[in-house]
Parts: sequence; C-alpha cells; structure tokens
Amino acid sequence: MQCYVFFGIQGSGKGTQAKFLSERTGFQHVNIGDLLREQVALDTELGNEVSRIIEVGDLVSDDVIYKLIGDSFCPGCKGVVFDGFPRNIAQAEFLMEHFEVKRVFFLNLDQEKAIARISSRRVCSSCGLNYNLVSDVPSKKGVCDDCGGKLVVRDDDKPAAIARRFKKFYKRTFALRDFFETRGLLSEVDASMGIEEVSAAINAIVDSISSN
Ligand code: AMP
Repeated sequence: MQCYVFFGIQGSGKGTQAKFLSERTGFQHVNIGDLLREQVALDTELGNEVSRIIEVGDLVSDDVIYKLIGDSFCPGCKGVVFDGFPRNIAQAEFLMEHFEVKRVFFLNLDQEKAIARISSRRVCSSCGLNYNLVSDVPSKKGVCDDCGGKLVVRDDDKPAAIARRFKKFYKRTFALRDFFETRGLLSEVDASMGIEEVSAAINAIVDSISSN
C-alpha cells in the first residue's frame, strides 16, 4: 500500500497538514496519537495499558503501534497518510518493509515557536475534538461546538510533558531525517510559515513526484 509520512516536533502542524493531504489524495489519514487516545477514552485494555505512557510523553511499545496500524485501515483504502508514525528507526524499518513510501515530510519548526502553538491547543474532554484558540476557535469560549463538552488542555500538552516529548523527539525521532534522506525519500518543509503556505509547499512536492 502507498503512503505519505509526516513527522516533526509537537506543534509543527503535522496533524493539520496530514489531514489536508489525505483530503487531497483520498488516502486515509492515520493519526496514531488519536488512535491511542481513543483507546484510552473507550477504557479498553490497551487504553489502560498506554494511558500513563501517553500522559508523561513516553513512547508506546512498537508492537502495540504495529497492531493498532494493522487494525486501522478502512476497507478499500487506496493509500495512507501517516501522522505520528514512524517515531523511531525500528518503526521506520517496519514501514519500509510493509508500505510503498511515496514521500516523507519533515516539518521543521524551532522549539520556541512550537511551544507558543501548543499553548493555544485545546481538546474536548467529552468527544476528543481538537481546537486552537488562534486558528480554530470554538463559537463559545471553553465549550465544544459539536457536543457541548468542556475544552481542556491535553495532559501531554502541559509544560512538563511537552519538555519530555521534545526530548524524546530529538533522541529517537530526529534520526528519521537521516534515515529517509539516505533513501532519497525526505522533503524538509519550513513549518514556521502559515498553514496555507506549508500546504502549498507540500502539494508542489506531491505534484512533482506524481508527474515524474
Ligand atoms: P501525538 O498526538 O502524535 O503527539 O501522540 C501522543 C502520544 O502517543 C505520544 O506522546 C506517544 O506517547 C504516543 N505515540 C504516538 N505515536 C506513537 C508511535 N509511533 N510510537 C510510540 N508512541 C506513539
């Protein structure tokens, strides 16, 4: 199966851009963080196993991630946009073995800008819908447009967890840049630009691959 991959530090906008690309290509958007949080919200066995790990910003074990990915595809899905996977070299090798990787986008953003963006993120405590107090503002302050639930800061968006997640990113995930560069699959995009500009840069790269 064909796939595109997005990686970058938290706040780099990979979720937003992965969603855009999935809408444009008709590929399924697979956001591993959302799949994990869904398991936690549903109070499943897996959810209970991973909730503490997610809360403190550690990485969930590779086997759990592979199982989750295997269970996540829609029937008839023609391709996938991965967001939050792979997150280490072992996962990248798994990806190369099981998928045809069309392009890997590294959304590059410095930590200060990322922190400013993360501090404006909110999530609905009932249905899990994401908001942003700058770019995706709810109609009524602190309340979910969809279900009326209370909007809160995600536990893993709190300062201590963020610091830990950044550290994890540079320790484990940053190595993906070399891994995919060596294989001729990497495109680095300046994620400090506005959402539309980043999206245009990504679309131009995707179009240039398709026309080759
Ligand atoms: P995210 O919303 O993508 O930042 O993911 C939230 C949390 O889910 C991360 O901090 C990790 O604990 C876990 N997680 C998401 N994707 C992965 C992955 N590919 N491998 C291991 N853990 C992951």
